[in-house]
Amino acid sequence: NSGDHVPALVIGSGYGGAVAALRLTRAGVQTHIVEMGMDWTGQTYSSMLEPDGRSYWLRTQTVQPVSSILGIPADRTITKYTGVLDPETFAGIRVYQGRGYGGGSLVNGGMAVTPRRDYFAEVLPSVDVAAMYATYFPRANAALGVNHVDQAWFETADCYRYARVGRDQANASGYATTFVPNVYDFDYMKKEQAGTVTRSALASEVIYGNNHGKRSLDKTYLAAAAATGRLHVTTLHTVTAVAPAATGGYSVTMNQIDTTGATVTVKTVTADRVFFAAGSVGTSKLLVAMRAQGRLPGLSSTVGQGWGTNGNVMVGRANHVWVPTGGLQSGMPAMGIDNWADPAGPVFAEIAPFPAGTELWISLYLAITKNPNRARFSYDSSTGSVGLNWTAAQNAPSAAAAKRVFDTINAAQGTVYRTDLFGSNKVWGDELTYHPLGGCVLGQATDGYGRLNGYPGLYVVDGSLIPGSIGVNPFVTITALAERNIEKIIATDLA
Ligand code: FAD
Repeated sequence: NSGDHVPALVIGSGYGGAVAALRLTRAGVQTHIVEMGMDWTGQTYSSMLEPDGRSYWLRTQTVQPVSSILGIPADRTITKYTGVLDPETFAGIRVYQGRGYGGGSLVNGGMAVTPRRDYFAEVLPSVDVAAMYATYFPRANAALGVNHVDQAWFETADCYRYARVGRDQANASGYATTFVPNVYDFDYMKKEQAGTVTRSALASEVIYGNNHGKRSLDKTYLAAAAATGRLHVTTLHTVTAVAPAATGGYSVTMNQIDTTGATVTVKTVTADRVFFAAGSVGTSKLLVAMRAQGRLPGLSSTVGQGWGTNGNVMVGRANHVWVPTGGLQSGMPAMGIDNWADPAGPVFAEIAPFPAGTELWISLYLAITKNPNRARFSYDSSTGSVGLNWTAAQNAPSAAAAKRVFDTINAAQGTVYRTDLFGSNKVWGDELTYHPLGGCVLGQATDGYGRLNGYPGLYVVDGSLIPGSIGVNPFVTITALAERNIEKIIATDLA
């Protein structure tokens, strides 16, 4: 309520926010989460085949990652509603993010990948790598409920034909492949395949939420935090300002919104400590605006810098008619092409589903590449909004790296790219990312544990700490880094 004074306020409920909430509440701290999206507990999600207002954040039209098939636009009109997926659009890129209690965990593919140790050390040189791999990655994997597919079952399951096709074609072209762990309950998926439970991953549910099977954060970290009795959750509230309070601590201003996005009331509370967990984009935008507006004028000039796409690029290949990929496809990827060690251009490509519910002979991939380009957020005082200066041309290195791998596979298979999925006559899905990272880089915009320099009691705990690239799908790294940082913060700042 407006006027309240709370010890710890967490802005956002994705991976960073959920870790902070669990560890703070377990340490005895009354913790308040403020989340702009809805609490989906007890609600249902829409499938990818029949998206409605629940699918997108305050839009009247869907913005599907694959925008057309054979020249037919894939998007459709929907009711404006506080739906779960937000393709936030900047001048040069669409950044897909989850909105709701659980953040990105509600919409993502659940791929739970621990990064290569040498690459982690290269990206975050100030972090003790031995401690990360001995303690914090295992802790994160356990708390997230990461599990592995039964490999014998995988070989026979109809729903993974697409993944076996993608693997076999990559292997035949000399590329290594690897099974990828997931937070989706593979035992549940087996029952879906057997037809004994309600289908979710096998019913084209993924990027607009899963009604069953997925261990999203609301079922793992956040449920454990709630079980302490010290967690307080406020959804459909968007934080708009944070500034030092006259009485000590920080005053946090937020708009309560309704499901049409309209502001119902404006509230201000005071918090002794504020944990920024609004995601790479959300946290960076908020902090850049606070610095420019003079509310947190002492923030480092590096706040807003070092943002990248994790080298994301999507691509589809057209298989021969005698190589079906399956009309039934699990929405949860289980296999990746691992060409990261290639000095000519590292690529880790998820063999992605195309869960259209019908045979399309398409092999789809989300490639993660080592794109060195970075962008920065900046405040526009004429509009009061924060922009991102990433340009489409900056994604050229991602497409070039992926092209080497998929040209080779196409040559070996005698196949071609689909040119109809990301626009007309366009091969590369290079105008979007699922993996925004950076903007408040660890050890630059913050100290070595996410404390915002110059403002005791302000912390960054989410993907904005990671400088633009991690080489694999990022949520396990975000979670493990948050575990490391919050442990230190609780031990030293809250003792
Ligand atoms: P987020 O999870 O984005 O959480 C931030 C939260 O803060 C959100 O809930 C948001 O609504 C809220 N928020 C933002 N601003 C405010 C504000 N001003 N006030 C209040 N609340 C606010 N990663 C993987 O590792 N594996 C995958 O398989 C995978 N698949 C993906 C598929 C899709 C379609 C997408 C979009 C992402 C995928 N990702 C995947 C990426 C992963 O989900 C993100 O890296 C991760 O969620 C980022 O965690 P975070 O804690 O930084 O922020």
